[in-house]
Amino acid sequence: MNSFPKITFCTGVGTVTGANFLLEVSSKTKILIDCGMVQGEKFATAENREPFSYDISSITALFITHAHLDHVGRIPKLVKDGYKGPIYSTPETQALAEVVLNDAVNILKEEADREGVSPLYDASDVQQVFPLWKTVNYHEPFKLNDEVSIYLKDAGHILGSAMIEVTLLNGATGADSGSPLAHSALTGTTSGRSQTKILFTGDLGNSPAPLLRDTEAVGDVDYLVMESVYGDRNHEDREGRTNKFKQVIERTIARGGTLIIPAFAIDRTQVLLYELNNMVEKGVIPSIPIFVDSPMAIKATDIYKTGEHLFNNFVQAQIRAGDDIFKFPRLKYTVSQNQSQEIDNAKPPKIILAGSGMSVGGRVVGHEEQYLPDGRNTVLLVGYQTTGSLGRQLVDGLKKVHIHRKTIKVKAHIETLFGYSAHKDGDHLVQFVSTAGDEKGKGRLKKVFTVMGEPGASMHLAQRINDELGVKALVPNRGEIYRLE
Ligand SMILES: [Zn+2]
Repeated sequence: MNSFPKITFCTGVGTVTGANFLLEVSSKTKILIDCGMVQGEKFATAENREPFSYDISSITALFITHAHLDHVGRIPKLVKDGYKGPIYSTPETQALAEVVLNDAVNILKEEADREGVSPLYDASDVQQVFPLWKTVNYHEPFKLNDEVSIYLKDAGHILGSAMIEVTLLNGATGADSGSPLAHSALTGTTSGRSQTKILFTGDLGNSPAPLLRDTEAVGDVDYLVMESVYGDRNHEDREGRTNKFKQVIERTIARGGTLIIPAFAIDRTQVLLYELNNMVEKGVIPSIPIFVDSPMAIKATDIYKTGEHLFNNFVQAQIRAGDDIFKFPRLKYTVSQNQSQEIDNAKPPKIILAGSGMSVGGRVVGHEEQYLPDGRNTVLLVGYQTTGSLGRQLVDGLKKVHIHRKTIKVKAHIETLFGYSAHKDGDHLVQFVSTAGDEKGKGRLKKVFTVMGEPGASMHLAQRINDELGVKALVPNRGEIYRLE
C-alpha cells in the first residue's frame, strides 16, 4: 500500500505483550510507537530475535508510552540493529526504563545461558540507548517536524505513563522542527483542511488509583489505538481492596505467620507501600517488620519519590502535610543478599514484599521455598499470573510445587487480591472510549483498534464498542496495514 498516512500493527496484537506500531505519515515521516518485548512463558520469547518488519533506517522517531518491558524491551535491539533516531517519552518513563532495561539484561543472560545461546542484548547495548533519549513533559505540545506534532496525556497506569496524541499537520506550517507550540495551534484546521489525530493509549490505569492521577479523556481524535488486556472481564470492587488487604494481614498476624507478597517492582510495590504506610500510621494494623526485598523495587521507589508532583491531589496533600508515604516505622529496604538474611532472622509476624510479581525468578522465589511449607504463613498474589508461572500454580491450588529442583509442599494460605490491578477492566475501557469528542460532546472518532490483549479480550471489547457506543471498532491482525483517511 503506497498511500499515506497508514498504520502497521507490527507486534502487540492478539497478545498482551510486544507493543510495536508503525505510523507512516508520508514517505519522509515514519514514527514508531513503543518497542516492547514479546513475553509469554518465557521472559523473552524467540520471536524477539526476528528482524524488525520495517526498514529501521527510515524511522524518523520512536515514542514510548511507558516503561514496562512489554513496551520498551526491544529498544536495545532496535538500536543494536541500526536505529539512530531520537527516542521520546516523559522524564519519568526514561528514568524507569533505565531500571527496567538494566534489570532485563540480567534475566536475558540467565535465560540465554540456560539455552546455550547468546542473549538478545547485553549491558553495553542498553548503554547505547540513552544518548538517543529525549524527554517531553505531559501537556507540552511538541512539534516533531512540519508534518507531525505530539501531545502527551496522563494514562494513569504507572508513573510517567502517557497516551500519545499524534496530530498530522498536513505539512502546512513553517515552524522549526522540534520546537514546542501552543496546543491551541494544533487543534482545528490548517489551511481549511482538518487535521487527523490519532491517539495511542499505551496501557490504561485502573482509575481512581491509590497514588496516580486519573486517566485523561480521549479528546477529539479520529483514530484510537487502545489496550484491551481486560477487555472481556471486570475487576473485583476497588472499594473493597484496602479492607481485604487489611484482613489478609490481620489473619497472618493472628497465626503468628509471615506474609509474602510477590509484587511487580514498578507501581505495585509503591502502591502497596503507600497502603501499608496509611494502615501503620493510622494504627489500623499493628506495627510489624515489613521488608522490601528487591533492588529493582527500591530503585523504582526512588524514582516515584521524584515524581510526587504527578500523584493525585489527595496524595499530594498528604505529602504536603508532612507524610513521607514510602517511609514508616519498621519498614526496611534490603538491597544486598546479606540483608536478605536479616529478613529470615526477624521473628514473625512479618511482611515481605519481593519480586518478581509472578514468582518467575527474583528473590521472592527463595522466600516461597522457605515459607510455603508452613501453614501459619500466607502468600498474597496481587497481580496477573501467567500460565506456567509458580504464581499461577499457587492460584490454581497446587499442593506441591517445584522450586530450585526441590519439591515444596504448599501449606501456607494462598490469597488473591486483584483490586490493585494497574489496568482498566472491560466496563471502564468502554467508559473511556465514551469520553471521545470535543467540549460540546461532538465526536469525530472514526475507528477504534483494540490491541494489546488476548484475541478473545480484544474481540469482546471491540464488539462492545460497536454495540454500546456505535463506534466502529476492530481487532487488527499482526502485520496488517490500515490506511487512515
Ligand atoms: Zn504496562
